[in-house]
Amino acid sequence: MPGGAPGAGWRRLGARGIAPAAIGIAAASYWTFMSPYSQLLGPFPYRFSTTEPVVALTFDDGPNEPYTSQIADVLGASGARATFFAVGTCVERDPEPARRLARDGHVLGSHGYSHRLDRCVGLEVLRDEVSRAEAAFSRHLGLRPVLFRPPWLLRTPGLFTIAHEQSLRLVSGEFAHVLEVLQPSPERIARRAVAKARPGSVLIFHDGVEAKGGDRSATVAAVELVVAELSARGYGFTTVDRLLGIDPYR
Ligand SMILES: [Zn+2]
Repeated sequence: MPGGAPGAGWRRLGARGIAPAAIGIAAASYWTFMSPYSQLLGPFPYRFSTTEPVVALTFDDGPNEPYTSQIADVLGASGARATFFAVGTCVERDPEPARRLARDGHVLGSHGYSHRLDRCVGLEVLRDEVSRAEAAFSRHLGLRPVLFRPPWLLRTPGLFTIAHEQSLRLVSGEFAHVLEVLQPSPERIARRAVAKARPGSVLIFHDGVEAKGGDRSATVAAVELVVAELSARGYGFTTVDRLLGIDPYR
C-alpha cells in the first residue's frame, strides 16, 4: 500500500528505475491527498477511539432516488441513525429525500456542490464549492452542516484553510467495500463492511454515484445485511457528530 518502502527503483535511477520511481511518487501522492487514512495535511478522522460498541454508517453522493429513501426505510426499520454526506447539486435537484433524512433523525453533512474533480483543487474554486453547497443546504433544507467530506476524499492544504476559516469538520472513513461503487453482490459488500467494523468505526457507503445518480440497489440490500449482522454482534449505530462530540449544524 502507499506509504510503504518505495522499492529498489529509488536506489539507482537509471532508465529501469524511472518506472518504479514514478509509481512511488504516484503512491506517495495518493497517500497524502486521497487516502482515507493519511493525516499528513491535517486532521481527517476515519475512526474514533471509544470503548462503546458503536459504528457510524455514512452515505455519500446522494440524494439519489429511490435508493436514498430505501436506505432510510432500512435504517428506520431498526431505529439506526446514519450520516449522509449529500451533494449540493443533488439536494437542489431533489430536496425532499434529504428533508426526510433530517426528519428521521439522520445527520446531513456536505459533500461539496458539484462533485467535479476539476473543482476539488484551487483555493477560490474550493471556496466556491463549499459556499454553493452551503447555500443549497440552507435554502432547501434550512440546515448549515458543520461536517464536510471532500469528493474522492481529496484534500489539499487549501481545503484545510477553508475548513479552519468556516469551522467545518473534515471527515474521512473506511470504504465499506472498495468496489462498492461497482455494485458487487450485497453479500460481498456486507461481509467486507462487517469485517472492518470496530468500536468507533466510520464506514463509507454510497447512495449515489458522484452527482450522476445510478443504481444503488446492491448497497441498499447490503445495508440491511450490515445492520442486522452488526446488531446481532451487539453494535449500535451512531452519527459522526456524536463521535466528534459536536453540534452537526451551525
Ligand atoms: Zn463522493
